[in-house]
This record gives sequence, structure tokens and C-alpha cells, in this order.
Amino acid sequence: MPPLSSGRLASLIVGILVATSALGQSSTADTIYVGGDILTMNDSAPTAQALAVKGGKILLVGDRKAVEAQAKGAQTQIVDLKGKTLLPGFIDAHSHYFSALTVANQCNLYAPPAGPGKDVPSIVAAIRKFAAEKKVSKGEIIQCYGYDENAMPNGRQLTRDDLDAAFPDNPVLAGHVSMHGAVLNSAALKKWGFSAETKTPPGGVIVRKPGTDEPYGLIMETAYLPVFASLPKPTPEQEVEWSIAGQKLYAQAGITTAHEGATHADELALMQRAAKSGRYIIDVVAYPFVTDLEATLKANPPDTWGKYDDRVKIGGVKITIDGSPQGRTAFFTTPYLTGGPGGEKDWRGELAAPQEVITKAVKGVYDLGVPLDLHANGDGAIDAFLAAHEAAAAGDLGKQRHVTMVHAQFARKDQLDKFVQYRIRPSFYTLHTYYFADAHIKNRGKAQASSISPMRDAIAKGLQPTNHTDFVVAPLDQMFMLWSAVNRVSRSGAVIGADQRVTPMEGLKAMTIWPADQHLEGATKGSLEPGKLADLVILDKNPTKVPPMAIKDIKVVETIKEGKTIYLREPGGRL
Ligand SMILES: [Zn+2]
Repeated sequence: MPPLSSGRLASLIVGILVATSALGQSSTADTIYVGGDILTMNDSAPTAQALAVKGGKILLVGDRKAVEAQAKGAQTQIVDLKGKTLLPGFIDAHSHYFSALTVANQCNLYAPPAGPGKDVPSIVAAIRKFAAEKKVSKGEIIQCYGYDENAMPNGRQLTRDDLDAAFPDNPVLAGHVSMHGAVLNSAALKKWGFSAETKTPPGGVIVRKPGTDEPYGLIMETAYLPVFASLPKPTPEQEVEWSIAGQKLYAQAGITTAHEGATHADELALMQRAAKSGRYIIDVVAYPFVTDLEATLKANPPDTWGKYDDRVKIGGVKITIDGSPQGRTAFFTTPYLTGGPGGEKDWRGELAAPQEVITKAVKGVYDLGVPLDLHANGDGAIDAFLAAHEAAAAGDLGKQRHVTMVHAQFARKDQLDKFVQYRIRPSFYTLHTYYFADAHIKNRGKAQASSISPMRDAIAKGLQPTNHTDFVVAPLDQMFMLWSAVNRVSRSGAVIGADQRVTPMEGLKAMTIWPADQHLEGATKGSLEPGKLADLVILDKNPTKVPPMAIKDIKVVETIKEGKTIYLREPGGRL
């Protein structure tokens, strides 16, 4: 740093005076929050007593007396947090926002704790309640999501007959948690032409009633694709309504910036059309899927990327390198202990595309100069990406290219070192320690399963990992996600890798300031600092103070986007 000339020093002093007077005189806050814990996610001042907001931005953060003295005016609303906790609004590091548009109009059948689907009678009751609340008329299609046959007690699964008894006149689709199929009732089977005569297509599943050829309800994979493709599309009015309904799911989870993790060109077009209504309540960052890159670029030249337009921003490109470890389609350097999904021996999974295709795609994104999000789960897929990077980024391997490895679940320690060297940010998926740990132990062994989503190691090496739900695969529940990062307790109650647990504060950074940086928005979001957007969430308890196992019970009380309340847990009451 060069020595300060007297001229530069003078201009600095003038600058400071101007800033002070701007705060002291003309800046009266619209709102000042006091009376609860304020967690800023700013390391230089991690907690505060008061936060002042003006014009949708944070005006001041700090000591209550000082903030009130500087920013309280006659019109200022003082909000008493009454012991609740204020934080930056959550920033979604990876989910599938577009799914929320349809899911918001569907019945939740997730297994507990995410939904009511603990057994067949509970599922039928939930659909009945949903249909009554929505005033579904005769003949109308009823769609549901989150049915998980693995969670059904004694293997007693949902069938056509269960749904027929309750819904003789409406086609019902109880969507499978994988999103790759559904249980159909007789009206739905008839509507989509499934009968005893229907042949099962290659790569498809049509479950038959025992002892007969009659379809019994569950239709999966290629057999389900025509159903999925012909589901009703929203009208222009519905595009807006469904978008708002989907965004409300995010707002309810305390999220003020949502992520769309693999966007097809027509979906992006819909998002942009609906955004023109000016009614979006949160920001949405879309990562166009590499297969649709050309079409996306045609409609959206690179100079339009990285900027919000009516709350929609194109963040970068998404490339998928492998599949999922629970589906045994993630690619590893060593075989699965349980073989392949089709009974293959010495099965290691597969890359989504040959190495040279992956390398070419990565090079294409780097040449475009936009951020890259890549999906990789198995250590073999991570190696394949590192090889692609070494070829595509040759000459400057460590340049900041804004690369995020989504999931990175089975990253080895030596691969984490490469992430540091190549500036690759892992976005982990700690919810797997709850939802899929038992499958991972069976498929990959205890040692590998225990180090899934190695967040502790990553932070120790200086990385700033983010954490995600991958909604709609797991529910949008940011407190449950935080709980999983801090506790790593499985569905059956076992601790999965105690040495990879993080502190609540680290877990919170992985859902606020670090994903803000991931989306290149660290200057405006992710922490409570003057000048940043007043994107806020109020929780009923402080995650850094409750017993770690109680984090999952913390409730989002209010969500605020740029100073405006977009979700209130208790309608009518502010807090
Ligand atoms: Zn995903």
C-alpha cells in the first residue's frame, strides 16, 4: 500500500465526514429492531442489540442506544423482538425452485417429520383433507408429492385400491418421493391408458396386483414419463399465481433468495414471464442446465447474466457429472458393497457423460466466463471433474472462476485440498446424514458413510462450504438442515460422523453469508451490515443458544425481504 499523500488523507477525512453526517441527520430509520438476539454473520461484530432499516436496506447495526440516537425519528417504527432472534434471510445454496410452482398446488405425502405420510391410512386421510380444503370438483386431477414406500410400516404399500375407496371420481396421482413415478388410482390409470394389456416399457415399472396383470397403482421411470409429460400446464394467469405460491413455501422457510438448480430454457422463460408481473416476493437465481445452454444464450445474451431483472437472475451454468449414492448411480473409484441397481457385480456407478464430453462442457463454461455449478457425489465423479478442470483451466488452475461443487458428498480429504487449490466451493448436503445414512452404510460401508458431506474438514482447510436441501428431494426446512449439520443424527438415531459436525454458527454461515458469496452477492446479502439489503428472518429461538438437538424445533416467525414482511407465522400479529 503506498504511503498516504496529504491530498489523499484529506479526501478520506472528507469522505468520513460526509458518511457521518448522512447517517446523523438525514437518515431516519423506517424500522428499528430491538429486544432480542441479533446474529449478524459479520465476524467483526457477530452480535448486536439493534438493527435499523431504511428504504429496504440496512442503515445501522449495533448498540441499541447508539442506533436509536442516530436513526430514531418520529415516524420510526420500533419492533420489539420480545426475546426472539433476528438473522440475515436464508440464502438457498441449491434447490429446485421450479418444482415449488407445482408442489405448492399439491398434497404433501412426505413421511414424518416432513409430512403426514406415516402409513397408508394417514396418506389417504391427508389427501381427503387436501381435496376438501381445495374444494376439488368431480373429475379434477388430484396431485400429491413425497410418497416414500420405504417409510411404510411392514412393507404395506399404497395401492390403487386404497385410493379408489376414497376417490372413485377423481384421477389421483400420489407422486413418488424420487419424482420419477407415482401411485395412480383407477380413474388415473384409465385416463392414462394403463390396463392389464399394457406392456411394461424397457426401463419402466408397472406394479401389478398380485396374481393378476391388473396395474396396482405404482408406475415408475419410463412408464411414468408420458403421464408426467401430459400433466396440465399452467395458463398465463396460473404462471404468476403458481410462482407466488411456490415462493411462499420459500418465504415460510425463512429464505429470501431461492436457487433453481437445473433450469431448462422453457422453465426460465416461464420464470421471466411471471416475474414481469412485478409480484415476485423473493429473489430467484437460476442455473440453466448445460443441455439447454445454447437455447438459453439465444434468449439471454451473456451480458444479461448475473443481474436481477424483476427478481430473476441467471447465476451460471449447471453441469451434472454423476447420479445419486442412494440410487447407486453416483460414480466411485471403488465398487458398491451391494452391487448395481440392476444386480451388476463390481458396480462403481457411471459418469453422466464420457470424460471428454465433461471436459469440453467445463471448458465451454469457463470460456463464457460465467459461474459453474456442477453436480458430483461419488469420489470418482469428483476426480472426473478435477481432471476436467485441470484440462480446461490449464495455465491458471487457481483463478477465481466461481465454481461450486453441488453435493460433493463423498469428497476425500485429498480432494478437499484440491478444492482449496482450485478455488472450488463445496455445497454439501448434510440432510443425507438423516434421510439416507442407512442406505449409505449398506452401500458404501460405515467409514465412507460417516464422512459424507465433510463440512468440518472443509472448514478446517479454509473452505467456505454452503449447505442445501435439494428441495424437492428433501423438504424446504432450513432449521432441520442446520440441525443435521450440527448433530449428524440418522433416521434410526445413530450419529453419522461425529468428527464432521459443525458449530451452529458455522452451520448458519453455510446458509447465509457463504451462499451469498456463492451467488456473487456477498456485497448486498448474507450478513447484517449497513448498506446491505434488509433481507431478514426472525426465529423463535436462538440456534446458537438452544441445546443442539433442539435446533430442529426452532420456528421461523417472520421473513422480511428488503424491509417488507413476506411471511408471518401468526397472521395478524407482527411477532
Ligand atoms: Zn439438485
